[in-house]
Amino acid sequence: MTTTVNTATFRQHIAGQWADAVDGDWIDSVDPYRGEVWSRIPRGNDKDVAAAVAAAKQAMTDGPWATMTPPKRAAIMRRIAAAIVDNAQRLAEVEVRDNGKLLSEVQGQLSASSECWYYYAGLTDKIEGSSIPLEKPNTVAFTTREPVGVVAALTAWNSPLWFVAVKCAPALAAGCSVVVKPSEFASASTLEFAGLLKEAGLPDGVFNVVTGYGQEVGAALVEHPDVAKITFTGAETTGTRIYEAAASSLKRVSLELGGKSPNIVFDDADLDLAATGVITGIFGAAGQMCAAGSRLLVHTAVKDAFVEKVIALAGQITLGDPMDPRTNVGPIATRPQYEKVLHYLNVAESDGARCVLGGRPADDPELKGGQFVEPTIYVDVDNSMRIAQEEVFGPILSVIEFDSEESAVQLANDVDYGLVAGVWTKDTARALRMSKALHVGTVWLNTYRTYSYMLPFGGMKRSGIGRENGIEAVSEYLETKSVVMSTDDSVPTNPFVIR
Ligand code: NAD
Repeated sequence: MTTTVNTATFRQHIAGQWADAVDGDWIDSVDPYRGEVWSRIPRGNDKDVAAAVAAAKQAMTDGPWATMTPPKRAAIMRRIAAAIVDNAQRLAEVEVRDNGKLLSEVQGQLSASSECWYYYAGLTDKIEGSSIPLEKPNTVAFTTREPVGVVAALTAWNSPLWFVAVKCAPALAAGCSVVVKPSEFASASTLEFAGLLKEAGLPDGVFNVVTGYGQEVGAALVEHPDVAKITFTGAETTGTRIYEAAASSLKRVSLELGGKSPNIVFDDADLDLAATGVITGIFGAAGQMCAAGSRLLVHTAVKDAFVEKVIALAGQITLGDPMDPRTNVGPIATRPQYEKVLHYLNVAESDGARCVLGGRPADDPELKGGQFVEPTIYVDVDNSMRIAQEEVFGPILSVIEFDSEESAVQLANDVDYGLVAGVWTKDTARALRMSKALHVGTVWLNTYRTYSYMLPFGGMKRSGIGRENGIEAVSEYLETKSVVMSTDDSVPTNPFVIR
């Protein structure tokens, strides 16, 4: 394996400067492919958070950012977008070392991240209020849209720089400053990215990164009184805790959480197309996707034939080095996550699901040291089983049968989550009926994992609150202010009657 990465020590980025943790502590970061420590990041705490939030607050109050015109903000954001492309190989290699995602996939995400920064640069000068003709005579009323304030962006380990793009680009377009807290398991690429921003012309303090454990740095950020808005991607349990902690100070909160998403295959579907969608939906990124299609709901009439196709395709998957273009599926990114996936293999077996593929850690000696789990398929799954209800975040597919459109809808919606769903059918009217009946934030019809920074993404039910991507994401970082002026100079006869 070749790599251009030549440093194993990464530093926090606060007020435009590199910074060790105030208390001088470090966290080792493990390469999940080799199972070896490859780098270290500062283990910050509430003191580091205080410094980063102070820098972000100052940037919003008396720095050049506070008075910068939207076109100038946009120009800086375009330079950030260009810098991502110019540095894509280095950023990608750092991220792959940290979280084991396939190099090809990270390269694709970086290309989309750059486009995302361009997209939100284009929105900076289109944030407008409106003029409202009131029912009251002699008044002028209008609204303005103002940045919400300092934003805390807490991100998960599976797609660090993509999360930075979808959170920070709209936040900066809105005029906010940010403090990013990446996952302690994969902070390096976010820190590497921060180093590109000064050259792009971003004023100091607008984009800060603090690193460390969620309970220490993350919790301190959530509780900090000068943070106005929290945007979080991560586990549902953490999101719930953050929502509770933010409530006491009424912070604005957006949450992108987990899923237990159905891929629903009807008997009239193009089964070859559907099988490809199903395997990329659950085995891509080793299933470590919030939108993983972890439940295959398949019509009884085609179940046996379809499951055979899926097994045949999944059986050809090559596990291996995430840097190698021949690899289809890489390792599980973190040790705790690897143990969680192995635990769910036991849960599925003891609940009575029948394993028809995989069901164990990979035993290939070439993969020794890495955290690999074989692509796994369970049949005879009942939707009430834990393997059908709980998010695993790993390469495990549960197959559940249905015999009517109504029962497909009922099974699909019968989980606490509501992030995405895939529907495979040639019947257009049915596809549209399904898109309405499914309680999820995104419905993919005859496709799966078709994301775009232009299209709102987010969850219903326990999958989250708010939407990322698209024009509406900018609103997550804005407050609307109403202004009313009287054009009547006459003195009111009764000062206690409101005009
Ligand atoms: P996690 O919740 O453990 O961590 C996410 C971030 O929160 C990390 O930066 C972590 O340090 C921080 N954190 C942890 N405890 C905290 C606390 N008490 N206070 C403040 N911050 C805290 O999630 P993870 O394991 O990194 O990621 C996996 C989860 O992310 C999965 O559940 C997955 O579904 C979800 N996810 C959701 C989406 C989406 O867009 N909906 C995308 C990717 C991942």
